[in-house]
Amino acid sequence: MNIIIQKFGGTSVATKELREKVAKKVILSKQEGKIPVVVVSAIGRSGDPYATDTLIGLANHAFKEQSSRELDMIMACGEIISAVIMANTIKATGYDAVALTGFQAGIITDEYHGDAEVTRVDCEPILSLLKEGKIPVVTGFQGATLTGDITTLGRGGSDTTAALLGEALEADVVEIYTDVDGVMTADPRLVPEAKVIDTICYDEIYQMAEDGAKVVHPRAVEIARRGNITLKIKNTFSDAPGTIINGKIGSKGNSYRSGNEGDLLTAIAHKNGITQFTVFFNGDSVEESERFMNELTDNHISIDLINFFTDRKVFTVEEKNVEKLEQILNKLEYKFQVAKDCSKITAIGHKIRGVPGVMARIVKALAGQGVKILQSSDSHTTISCLVSRKDMEKAVNALHQEFNLSR
Ligand code: ADP
Ligand code: MG
Repeated sequence: MNIIIQKFGGTSVATKELREKVAKKVILSKQEGKIPVVVVSAIGRSGDPYATDTLIGLANHAFKEQSSRELDMIMACGEIISAVIMANTIKATGYDAVALTGFQAGIITDEYHGDAEVTRVDCEPILSLLKEGKIPVVTGFQGATLTGDITTLGRGGSDTTAALLGEALEADVVEIYTDVDGVMTADPRLVPEAKVIDTICYDEIYQMAEDGAKVVHPRAVEIARRGNITLKIKNTFSDAPGTIINGKIGSKGNSYRSGNEGDLLTAIAHKNGITQFTVFFNGDSVEESERFMNELTDNHISIDLINFFTDRKVFTVEEKNVEKLEQILNKLEYKFQVAKDCSKITAIGHKIRGVPGVMARIVKALAGQGVKILQSSDSHTTISCLVSRKDMEKAVNALHQEFNLSR
């Protein structure tokens, strides 16, 4: 049916002028014979009156022990406001648009408030609007349980909404509009010479997103891969061609930034707010390990950068889990050390596999900048180093330069 999903992030809908720009992009695709379905995030960034963080602050201000059900209700308001304003902006141009909440758009989730999983998408509401020639403007980041409780899909979840609608409506493409020219070789806020990547495969962008590249949500990539849908990351503020994300691996099976087929690495990602734990065991028994791992599972704490030794376990957790983990360790009477304020720097590339000397180059490049590696790990396509938060920017730039990513 030639459906195109067009998702616009918070900064893209932040002002009247920008919303008019967004409306123009939507109408242009309609004029080109495509059938647009729009998804919007809440207006603006932290500090702006209707941004998600502002709404959370408002709820917490009234009552600190927020229930996750009510928190989801207030968070969902940001996207509802945004969808109404955006639909009105489109209508002002003479095209008919209709704002829909996640629930009205047929997005059904489980009951896990704050990080709900979508279990079903009923396409009927959107399809009937499309049949009438109307442009649906759907709230990102939210759905509802079967009993009608509003749920949210986790931060950055509007990308997930866009990918899900793309899959359910069998869209030709899902366009994700943001404030940069596409997926870049590193966060351009840290590395001014970072370059746009023309084409990237699901695996690599998934890894980048998991390891902190905020430009697209990992779940959205997962859904696109599952449905074999092309994602495009584009800039609302420019006409740059953007980045195409699909399943194609370069002809040589390499990392394949177009024009740079021989490149060893594709990108450097970073993630802040990481805490490293070293837990000491007295003669580590299987039961003891099991008890510890079960506690982590029961408390929804996922651990990363895991190195287990007979007398100690070293791993990292996200900042939000530190307090809970400390309570667990105290309860189990384990001795432990904590290193807060760390960052994880990850080098990503298909070609890393089997190429000797990559780690040696990373160690040398970081040492050259006086950056200490606190821990490291690797997979087929990644090498990650844990560094102190204060060294993060230096480390990302050093690796970006070492592997010539600005070429
Ligand atoms: P939106 O509100 O549109 O969803 P986000 O803030 O979630 O926007 O994502 C866009 C931001 O992602 C950019 O402003 C950029 O600073 C950051 N970013 C981090 N890593 C990368 C990368 N590798 N390529 C592009 N942008 C990145
Ligand atoms: Mg985002």
